Amino acid sequence: MDEISAKVPTPSPRLAGLPGYGRGRAGAAQIFAHRLGSNEAPDAPDRAVRQAVAAAFDGANRYPDLRGETLGAALALRHGLKADQVAVAAGSIVLLDQLMRAYCDGGDEIVTAWRSYEAYPILAGLAGARLVEVPLNSEHCLDAAAMRTAVGSRTRAVLICNPNNPTGTALAPEALDGLLDALPADLLILLDEAYCDFDGSAEAVRAAPARRLARHPNLVILRTFSKAWGLAGLRAGYAMAAPEIIAAIHAVAPPFPLPGVALAAVLAAIELPEAVAARVDRNAAERARLTSGIAALGLPVAQSAANFVWLPVGPRAEALNAHLAGVGIAARCFAREGVRITTGTAADTDAVLDALARFRPND
Ligand SMILES: *Cc1c(COP(=O)(O)O)cnc(C)c1O
Repeated sequence: MDEISAKVPTPSPRLAGLPGYGRGRAGAAQIFAHRLGSNEAPDAPDRAVRQAVAAAFDGANRYPDLRGETLGAALALRHGLKADQVAVAAGSIVLLDQLMRAYCDGGDEIVTAWRSYEAYPILAGLAGARLVEVPLNSEHCLDAAAMRTAVGSRTRAVLICNPNNPTGTALAPEALDGLLDALPADLLILLDEAYCDFDGSAEAVRAAPARRLARHPNLVILRTFSKAWGLAGLRAGYAMAAPEIIAAIHAVAPPFPLPGVALAAVLAAIELPEAVAARVDRNAAERARLTSGIAALGLPVAQSAANFVWLPVGPRAEALNAHLAGVGIAARCFAREGVRITTGTAADTDAVLDALARFRPND
């Protein structure tokens, strides 16, 4: 008998050399008292959301909506859009992946500010595209003029994360509108607003998409239920765009994008805007305490509009992250750049400030 050949097929070269998606914990085996590495909400889901999930689970023998259309219609209504202007998926990261695959071909470029969300280079690489990284300005904020200048003949899309992860910095609404106006109308513009609920009034957060989409048919706005809506574990996000763009998302998306329990949870959650308002208020209070406390300790901290703070400590990033991990605080480290710390409960803030006060750069 011949020996069975041990040769395992190799995947596409597109996969070679892609960065990995890191965990929001310093070491997977460690148990952290303060889980501040993934920008999650610190509180458990509301009662009404739990009840909706339990009821939906009773029907788990049936397939859910083919396209998540019940949720899509509810979100369209909430934002004053038509149902065919909304697509849902198991997280906005999935929608980004689908959009890049739907619109990019090998050699296309996607312009984005950098440092930004660590998933972007992975998703761009998987789509065969090249991410063109435009440095943030000295305030750790997106440089609109430089973004415009970076657009070239190979540019297919511009990706804007606002507020930006991991720096927390945000463009003012007028500055964002100015950038959208300045970008060529034939480019796909991907506006990732994962953290927008923490920045601006609830009414502005609800109304802005219809206004911007009416002016920019090439715009896609991405939102998530993972952050201010407190449902990261259920995986739900949505895209708002022209019907043609939504159709392209559907063309690359497998059917049944969200499980029935996730659809039910989000449908219940959007009936509870006061729960989001409470999270946003708590976040603003703890973010202010963190920011002023960190500055008072003489450590650098960027002006955040999100549910985390960015400490651009450069070469001290790994030491700072290890120091935090040593006292049970999980943060997110970007080697030689900085450390991102999620805003949690008041007790989380106390623990972070206490730990930072005891950080010695040469630890
Ligand atoms: C957390 C986050 C997302 C949301 O991802 P989901 O897949 O919806 O959980 C998207 N973009 C940015 C910049 C994020 O930080």
